[in-house]
Amino acid sequence: MIKIKNLSKLYQTKTQSVQAVDDVSLTIDKGEIFGVIGYSGAGKSTFVRLINRLEEPSDGSVVIHDKDITKMQHNELRNKRQKIGMIFQHFNLLWSRTVYDNIAFPLEIAGVPKAKRKEKVLELINLVGLSGKEENYPSQLSGGQKQRVGIARALANDPEVLLCDEATSALDPETTDDILDLLVSINKKLGLTIILITHEMHVIQQICHRVAVMENGKVVESGEVLDVFVKP
Ligand code: ADP
Ligand code: ADP
Repeated sequence: MIKIKNLSKLYQTKTQSVQAVDDVSLTIDKGEIFGVIGYSGAGKSTFVRLINRLEEPSDGSVVIHDKDITKMQHNELRNKRQKIGMIFQHFNLLWSRTVYDNIAFPLEIAGVPKAKRKEKVLELINLVGLSGKEENYPSQLSGGQKQRVGIARALANDPEVLLCDEATSALDPETTDDILDLLVSINKKLGLTIILITHEMHVIQQICHRVAVMENGKVVESGEVLDVFVKP
């Protein structure tokens, strides 16, 4: 379970300050697919980056499986980050490495021995449906295939949660459906908690259990997807 309490992020530059995330509190259940929707600039990306502490919060806490990541330092933070997978709109793959090596990369960093690494990479490649593409480079893959590599890489260290930052926004509708189906099957198979941010309502409607609506850094509404989007 993930407990986010009074989370805030104030960006301060010489000329202006922006309250990107403003006192957000949410609880996300283990095994849930939780959506965060909002217009551009609402604070979604900052919010999701606060969860793995790619951004330092100005205030508040993020407790993931009983540990507050905002209080962690050094090794503890590094180990916790390995348990938080993330996928991105533009995939963020290493372009000079093959599919195999992109997926092996987080395992190398975590110090997993070579034989174990190989076993895990081949299992992940199978899971995301990329068998036969091991030696391809990202430039030789379609957008959907690139995101499959991104997903496999994010799952390499058996994360407690998968963060998806506009993960289908660069994909065509059909490929978007394929990737959303894959996320659902991974959620079911592994019981993995998924937090997904998007500006597209249909993405939320297609796979999320609950949703929070963000505006100006605040959660203005949250609940079951059907209750939030379909008013009686
Ligand atoms: P979204 O993901 O919903 O589009 P963001 O989290 O990217 O929203 O941005 C929220 C607000 O914070 C915006 O006003 C944006 O301009 C501002 N912002 C984001 N990152 C920074 C930054 N590094 N420095 C200053 N302001 C930022
Ligand atoms: P190094 O960087 O030291 O070569 P890697 O972690 O890149 O080590 O992995 C190399 C090992 O992974 C080799 O032993 C090889 O057997 C295995 N390997 C690499 N690519 C593939 C692949 N496409 N299918 C199966 N095994 C692979």
